[in-house]
Amino acid sequence: MRNSLLKIKSVKVEYYQIPLAEVLSDAKHGDHTHFEVIAVRIMTNDGYEGMGYTYTGGKGGRAIYSLLNDEIKPGLIGADSSAIMSIWDKLQWDLHYVGRGGLLSFAISAVDIALWDIKCKRLSAPLWQVAGGHSDKTACYAGGIDLNFDQKKLLANIQGYLDRGFNAVKIKVGKADYKEDVARVEAVRQLIGDDRTLMVDANYSMNVEHAIRFAKAIEKFDITWFEEPTIPDDYKGFARIAQATSIPLAMGENLHTLHEFGYAIDQAKLGFLQPDASNIGGITGWLHIASQAYTHNLPICSHGMHELHVSLLASQPHAGFLEVHSFPIDEYTTRPLQLDDNGKACAPDIIGTGVEFDAQLVKPHLVKQS
Ligand SMILES: [Mg+2]
Repeated sequence: MRNSLLKIKSVKVEYYQIPLAEVLSDAKHGDHTHFEVIAVRIMTNDGYEGMGYTYTGGKGGRAIYSLLNDEIKPGLIGADSSAIMSIWDKLQWDLHYVGRGGLLSFAISAVDIALWDIKCKRLSAPLWQVAGGHSDKTACYAGGIDLNFDQKKLLANIQGYLDRGFNAVKIKVGKADYKEDVARVEAVRQLIGDDRTLMVDANYSMNVEHAIRFAKAIEKFDITWFEEPTIPDDYKGFARIAQATSIPLAMGENLHTLHEFGYAIDQAKLGFLQPDASNIGGITGWLHIASQAYTHNLPICSHGMHELHVSLLASQPHAGFLEVHSFPIDEYTTRPLQLDDNGKACAPDIIGTGVEFDAQLVKPHLVKQS
């Protein structure tokens, strides 16, 4: 019989809307003025508290809150908090009919991360050790959301990343006239020099033919990856682009089930996988994709929530690059992301996931809780 001390005693859900310092735009989602964070706190009979969370680009957070509070929370009370995979599987099937791969994936992620926080705390170890233990550091890049910046501001923004110690940067592309994108890529390459890493991200705004034309035009600027050139469901379209250019393709932020990643790996000829633990089923889901990446000899990367992913990337021997996202969730935690002198991101040596919101900083942005 399982220890009753491990059982979940209570669950709290919190919903925040956090404003951005300035409007940030990409080619498909338009203007971002704020982001949403939905946090779950799970308390156990033996006195542990785990905090998990997910986030959005500004829309959908209320529905995720409702899923967690109205649909998921009642079933968690009394469950064994150490049975992470059982809870993950049950939640997937309980709401599969209405939620497969959608908001449900975000909600499950928040629960799963909270359970991993408890697991790490029971083991008295930081997440980077529990998740794999390969290293406590990872390569990273600054991911700009900068399509609305004119070229002067774009370059000033990139210079800001270099000043903070980044050796790799990514810019948005997807202007109405692709020649403008090409000019921006050239200007950024000129600014950062030949030795730094540059990626581009179209947020699936191009059709296959346009993506091929654009990719060919920027090949000479040594691009490490072309992210989401076209819609994420068009795996064969990705493959056509990959075959037509020497630039590796990347995606993952819009693949929200393990099966979608499986099909993408098989068909899309990707060079980099970018699962997001906030929407692929938490740490459990992210590690599943990391394992698939390992099997297929692909580097594992991430999207968003860098304060958490830093530990996951560091833990894996086949880590590619951590995205340091333009939604600064980490600035609302007690331990914002740290870079070392070589531009690598350092995983927190804190027992648990190492992510805890600073109550004073997030309180003004709390919309509701239960
Ligand atoms: Mg992206």
